[in-house]
Amino acid sequence: MKEVIIPKVIKIGCHTFKSIFFKGLIDGGTFGRTLHVQGEIMLNPSNSYSQNVVSWWHEVLHAIGAIYCSDKLEESVVDSIAEGLGQVFEEIGVKFDFSKLETASYANDCSRDKEN
Ligand SMILES: [Zn+2]
Repeated sequence: MKEVIIPKVIKIGCHTFKSIFFKGLIDGGTFGRTLHVQGEIMLNPSNSYSQNVVSWWHEVLHAIGAIYCSDKLEESVVDSIAEGLGQVFEEIGVKFDFSKLETASYANDCSRDKEN
């Protein structure tokens, strides 16, 4: 099994995205969310490992789609590719380590992206 640490920050295009666990997603029952303007990829701290893997790829694909595909990747395509990536990485023995990500608990900032 090859372990890959999910870094706190990745670049997609010219843009920096910070990956965090965000407690505000727990009540909403959402696995993940991307705030494009703020450059944040958020994961629900109550996700299982497999939900984290698929949700992280899902949110990364949303960022890639927004930057490289004029935001034209449909949700169903993002869902399918993320699930496929999660399955293939597991198949080839890659395990992702999310332990370096911070957990944010600030007031629900999920509405910020709607303001910008
Ligand atoms: Zn989505």
